[in-house]
Amino acid sequence: MKHLATILDQSWTKQFLLVVAFILLSFLGYLTLVVLNHAGLHDSRSISLLAVILFAFLIPTLLVWFSSRMLSVFFVVPITCIFSLLTNWVMQSSVYLLFIPAQAGLCGLLFYLDQRKDAEAISHAVEIEKAINEKNDMELAFKDEGTSISVHFEKYTHYYNLKNLAADFSATLSLKELSQLIVSKTVELISKESPCFLFLADTDGTELSLIASQSTEGARKQRLKGGDLFDFWVLRHRQSLIVTDVQKDFRFDIQKSSDLNGLRSLIASPLIHAGKPIGTLRLNSDKPVAFTTDDLRFLDAISTLASSAISNSILFQKTEELAIRDSLTGLYVQRYFRERLSEEHGRSLLTNSPLTLLMCDLDHFKDHNDRYGHGVGDFILIKTSELMAQKAGHGIVARYGGEEFAILLPKVTPHEGLVLAESIRSSLANMKLTVRREMIPITISIGVASMPVDTLDSEELIRIADRRLYQAKKSGRNQVCGVG
Ligand code: GH3
Ligand code: MG
Ligand code: MG
Repeated sequence: MKHLATILDQSWTKQFLLVVAFILLSFLGYLTLVVLNHAGLHDSRSISLLAVILFAFLIPTLLVWFSSRMLSVFFVVPITCIFSLLTNWVMQSSVYLLFIPAQAGLCGLLFYLDQRKDAEAISHAVEIEKAINEKNDMELAFKDEGTSISVHFEKYTHYYNLKNLAADFSATLSLKELSQLIVSKTVELISKESPCFLFLADTDGTELSLIASQSTEGARKQRLKGGDLFDFWVLRHRQSLIVTDVQKDFRFDIQKSSDLNGLRSLIASPLIHAGKPIGTLRLNSDKPVAFTTDDLRFLDAISTLASSAISNSILFQKTEELAIRDSLTGLYVQRYFRERLSEEHGRSLLTNSPLTLLMCDLDHFKDHNDRYGHGVGDFILIKTSELMAQKAGHGIVARYGGEEFAILLPKVTPHEGLVLAESIRSSLANMKLTVRREMIPITISIGVASMPVDTLDSEELIRIADRRLYQAKKSGRNQVCGVG
């Protein structure tokens, strides 16, 4: 049906129908005249033939209607009415006049169908218009939704990354590893090309030192070791900083800074813990406007996480230090000393290098305690420890027992060990320690043992050094007893 309507709508179809209609009209007109010419008033064949012909006149009316309603109503219908009237007149029967209302009825029906079709077309057009509007609205909504989805997705990714960062940061307690992790994560999450630097401030916040960095610019990295005017600005103001173009930023007098070295833009964020600035985290770029405020916000979030992770790490380091240091003298405790001995013993065997041990014991310390009191005894222990730590250099100095000390000297020969022991002994003997205007004579006995000359076993090394210390005591104290 739809297909037929489209065919009828074509202009060539309309012209074709018009031609057919006029041929049919002419033919029917001619046929009417011929039949009327030969028909008798009561010839039933002619009567029915004429009725059929007049009925057939409806066909050209219908055909022309498709091409032109005007032509159909004002030309075809009047002609067919004329033929009806003519037939009526010739045949003297008013029955033929019935074809006139039939024609009018057909036109009325066609007109009604047309109206319905137009109404349908209008309602379709309205529907189409509505659908187009809806489609446009949906497109707009989708576009808006799309942008908000991408914004939400970006936010979600950031939060997800931050959550992972928090877990990563808390997984490591070594300050060195943690700092490097902070820097590499910052570069990974904010800008893959920008050099990143992590500075930590000293206790009074006046100096910065580079703890970790990720940069291809080796030279600049060297120069930045102590931070520059931007880092100090962040540290002083305790707030993050974005510089879109260092050459145009009125806040900074770049003439004073000689080593900007192609730096054009940067973002930096302070590391703050318990209200105190502990450092800065910074990204550089040699292009202007390389960072957005969103980047800075994200850097701030990373800095917040980094701050507490760094503080934890520093605290952990301090606790660890406390656990291995003697509270009175600050020297290592025996447990830690033994760990280091085992380590250095292995290294000595592996590298075939000497390892020397000095076992030291203060002479008649009990007498000092008894005579001057425990406080003075403690003071002597502290002074002795300071001297030993200073003399031993890179050696590992431990408080082995009450007034006993052990000094482990990796890569030190027996002879060098003896020299050092002698130096400690004589310095202590010459140390003028006065209590209540009274000079306290402090002397020490030292036993020296060495690997590999004395033994290759670490426990044996301690035993030999102890034995020689005992020998030194036996030989009158204030002595060093070594190999042989
Ligand atoms: P020697 O020359 O034979 O080594 O005699 P000494 O008196 O040094 O040796 P002894 O082992 O008899 O005495 C060690 C003393 O060290 C006993 C103890 O009261 C004292 N002492 C141990 N630890 C401390 C400490 O932390 N502070 C003080 N003031 N004294 C301590
Ligand atoms: Mg003693
Ligand atoms: Mg002792």
